[in-house]
Amino acid sequence: MTATVAIVGGGPSGAFAAELLARAGRTVLLIDEKLAWEKPCGGGITDKALARYSFLREAPVEHHWVRSCELISPCDRRATLELDRPIAIFSRQVLNGLMLERARAAGAEVLKDRVTGITRGDGKWRLKRRSGELEAEYLVLAAGGRNPFRAQFAQPFKPEDLMATAGYYIPGSSPRMLIKFLPGLAGYIWIFPRRDHVSAGICGKMGGPTSAELRRMLEEFLHSEGLQFTGAQFYSHILPALSAPALQNLRVQGEGWAMIGDAAGFVDPFVGDGISLALRSGRLAADCLAPFLNHETSLHEATMRYRLSYRKRLLPVFENSSRLRRLLRLPGPIRRSVGHLLEATPALSRLLVRITR
Ligand SMILES: Cc1cc2nc3c(=O)[nH]c(=O)nc-3n(C[C@H](O)[C@H](O)[C@H](O)COP(=O)(O)OP(=O)(O)OC[C@H]3O[C@@H](n4cnc5c(N)ncnc54)[C@H](O)[C@@H]3O)c2cc1C
Repeated sequence: MTATVAIVGGGPSGAFAAELLARAGRTVLLIDEKLAWEKPCGGGITDKALARYSFLREAPVEHHWVRSCELISPCDRRATLELDRPIAIFSRQVLNGLMLERARAAGAEVLKDRVTGITRGDGKWRLKRRSGELEAEYLVLAAGGRNPFRAQFAQPFKPEDLMATAGYYIPGSSPRMLIKFLPGLAGYIWIFPRRDHVSAGICGKMGGPTSAELRRMLEEFLHSEGLQFTGAQFYSHILPALSAPALQNLRVQGEGWAMIGDAAGFVDPFVGDGISLALRSGRLAADCLAPFLNHETSLHEATMRYRLSYRKRLLPVFENSSRLRRLLRLPGPIRRSVGHLLEATPALSRLLVRITR
């Protein structure tokens, strides 16, 4: 089997890149071992992301609108934010299904299979999969945070650049979206209501609490909120949260390949918008690749364009987020003063939101 572009991973980044490249007229093969599945995720998409990708807002698929969010501080002080622009919470099975369907409709071939090896020879990529091999001129790696091919193409993420996550899909509904910060945890707990279940989870920096400890903290909190999780499906996953130096040295492309979405490290639990960043990087890669595939530019130029686009459009978002995270580690009195300043100057708060989105 031969394609112009092979995309490994059919999450939001891979599926969107597949859709855009197929629309540009290329033969695109997307391979995902699970296709539409309930990928561990809150599934929350902000209004800003929905404005950028209005097809998500308008999609005739099930999603849940949330209009208020309760924040709980480490010392259990509570504040409820009424959102003038609601957040949409998607089940990931539904969202992935929607994105994959769009890729298919645009002409991409979508295969359910696991890629087990990637090699290059004679200017072509050879992808080994459970049921045979396939060849492609160009390779897009969109295999998520656990991207098994990362070490072959770029520096593996360091433990300090990763977050551990654990959570439950709890049947039933909850009227509230809730985010709880815990003393000493570089992370947080979330409860995101969906149509027929609640996605509850916790994230914490690797090297901090173990996965078992994170799970215990989450369970204690769920108990305290009166949420019954006995028998609920448990999940755990990892999430890149790169430091400023790691972001500067990030390798996201090379001769004949590009990495997008979580696989590239384009996610940050602090700014939250992993799904939107996955879509953005999928589009960036497709926009940069299309001229090469249409014989309008060289492979080298297309590759460099992707690198420059990442540095211009995505890097500043991550750098600002990384700076904000540093701010949160300042001593309490300084942090509180910054908090008061932000409270007194809404324009400054809005600016902070804007530069990290
Ligand atoms: C617990 C948790 C909560 C989150 N909550 C939110 C949230 O509320 N809002 C938000 O915006 N973001 C959230 N995120 C981040 C968001 O889930 C990711 O940023 C987003 O899914 C990235 O999309 P992607 O396409 O890059 O990768 P993924 O969605 O991870 O997709 C990667 C795909 O690659 C496939 N794959 C991997 N290896 C292979 C292989 N060898 N062969 C074939 N297929 C393969 C997988 O099956 C998978 O479908 C959360 C993340 C976690 C872990």
